[in-house]
Amino acid sequence: MDGDFVELHNLQRQQLFTERDADDHRAKVKAAAERLRQINSSVLIHEAFAELNAANVNEYVQNVDVIVDATDNFATRMLINDAARKNGIPWVYGGVSGSYGVSMPFYPDQSPCFRCLSPYIGEDEDCDTNGVLATGIQIVAAHQATQVLRMLVGDVQTPKLYTFDVWKAESSYVAVAKLAMASCETCGPAPSYPALRERPREKHIQWMCARTGVQVRPAQAVQLALPDHIDRDEWHYKRFPDLSRFRKDGRQVILFKDGRAMIRGVQDTEEAEAIYDEVVGLTIPS
Ligand SMILES: [Zn+2]
Repeated sequence: MDGDFVELHNLQRQQLFTERDADDHRAKVKAAAERLRQINSSVLIHEAFAELNAANVNEYVQNVDVIVDATDNFATRMLINDAARKNGIPWVYGGVSGSYGVSMPFYPDQSPCFRCLSPYIGEDEDCDTNGVLATGIQIVAAHQATQVLRMLVGDVQTPKLYTFDVWKAESSYVAVAKLAMASCETCGPAPSYPALRERPREKHIQWMCARTGVQVRPAQAVQLALPDHIDRDEWHYKRFPDLSRFRKDGRQVILFKDGRAMIRGVQDTEEAEAIYDEVVGLTIPS
């Protein structure tokens, strides 16, 4: 599951994609599924071109044996943590910042959960300054994949947080059993699963990592009919299979059918919002 599209700067660490996928602005899930089917045509893959949120998570965790976190943000992990716990599904956390990686298996009948550990793991993942070293991702991914195998064969472990620094060639683990919060809203005696109740009420506008662009999400899911072309020629417009691209004066807008957009070349979020409203208006036939 992924709501993003392939870009050139992904290719140094995301091994399933090619320059061609980046040129074609392909949805990551579609490019990844195609590559995996080329490797093994007997594997059944259901790809979902969408972002995980409180409104759709329940649908995606039905009939699931294990959830693997390959996300890049704290809020989505809190959502996975609540959904996994509520539905009795084990999941594997993994994250990388710079050369430092961290991973941990979470079982639905064990504490602490990710929410308990969140004060120690920290919300600020610092992608603005650190970037990500590709080889660190390989270490964490190998660890996560191993945890999945152990879960699937029922090899339950005591909770440990594993850390790796691929640059310093160091690894360690922290026994975290004592960090469980007695009144945790996810794994405590009266769970309320707060992440599953969060519903955005207004348009969400924020800078992406390293301020490379601004991401806009509408308050509610919409279904835009992205046209093959637009009649106003001040924007250079191109329709791709999964999204539309608008370009004008050094600015670029990638607009998805669900109303999300990534806007580059703007000075501030106010300018991004104005451009967003303009291009969404252009998709509506006059
Ligand atoms: Zn907890």
